[in-house]
Amino acid sequence: THAPITTPLTFTTERNTHSLPAAEREAILADPGFGKYFTDHMVSIDWSRQEGWTNARVLPYGPLLMDPASSVLHYGQEIFEGMKVYRHPDDSLWTFRPEANGTRLNLSAQRLALPQLPVGDFIESLRQLIAVDGPWVPSGHDMSLYLRPFMIANESFLGVRAAEKVSYLVIASPAGPYFASGVKPVSIWLSTEYSRAGRGGTGAAKCGGNYASSLLPQQEAAANGCQQVLFLDAVTREYIDELGGMNVFFVKKDGTLLTPNLNGNILHGVTRASIIQLAKDRGVAVEERPITITEWKDGVASGDIVETFACGTAAVITPINVLKGPGFEVGDPEAPAGEFTMSIREELTDIHHGRRPDRHGWLTRL
Ligand code: PMP
Repeated sequence: THAPITTPLTFTTERNTHSLPAAEREAILADPGFGKYFTDHMVSIDWSRQEGWTNARVLPYGPLLMDPASSVLHYGQEIFEGMKVYRHPDDSLWTFRPEANGTRLNLSAQRLALPQLPVGDFIESLRQLIAVDGPWVPSGHDMSLYLRPFMIANESFLGVRAAEKVSYLVIASPAGPYFASGVKPVSIWLSTEYSRAGRGGTGAAKCGGNYASSLLPQQEAAANGCQQVLFLDAVTREYIDELGGMNVFFVKKDGTLLTPNLNGNILHGVTRASIIQLAKDRGVAVEERPITITEWKDGVASGDIVETFACGTAAVITPINVLKGPGFEVGDPEAPAGEFTMSIREELTDIHHGRRPDRHGWLTRL
């Protein structure tokens, strides 16, 4: 169940008089990569303890004027979301389960002592941005406009306490197909030295600090020829939590789908929840439970685990064919993506892009 959807905020729009000419925008949309280009506008809403949310507006995209004492710059009181807008074959624009992202933003806000933004205002902020930047949603196959809503502490005060002034913003960046030359399995590095989250920490929140702390282990993964890093629980270092930016799934020989349960330390992935639902719709047995690293290693070696994949908004579903760590490697770097992995990936991307029916009402028109 979600917070009630209300839209008390009224937005004003200041059009960008220096928007990129259409021909230049189209050149970017032909090959946007990821996170490199930004649209002509952004959303900004202010919050203060005295007044609550005010000054909801769409502005020309541009630098923020910030006091060097702004609290986010010192103590990292910041949260964010990541979602996508899809252009359907009839040119209508849609986003996927925005109420889930809005609910998660508020879960993160609660943990980081930031204010709650009503889910209705959250969705309206996306709609307002797309009303002016709709032409930035690409039409190419499996392309989208990535939305980055975020909330920062923005009070000029060096005391360590929750800020009494906050800014919420939304920026947008066109995204190409994650795997431009076909879906290719990745290898995963097991971090045995570093942790992402501990009990009572911020693991289930989408806050910048979690990503800052994942960068060093991510570099270690790259130095070992791996594309992503896997984190274990901080206490026993036996249980699988998640990757630096994705949740993880296993397919067993008997067809069962397996994924770590929401244990308070991992992100409540919207892609994760959607895959679980689609699998159940197919009659697949799904187990959400603690999974040890030994179960992964032994399962691959014995053939009991037949497919492994990661999931998240950016890449949707990424097959995994190798798990590496200090002194060990399991899997086959030449192994292609698994059958279930690819078929569930196709089903989900087809729903996103309006190529098959949205049975669960997951899409919201913007
Ligand atoms: N885990 C982490 C740590 C992430 O950053 C993400 C990406 N938001 C995910 C999982 C996947 O979440 P979602 O499917 O909602 O994008």
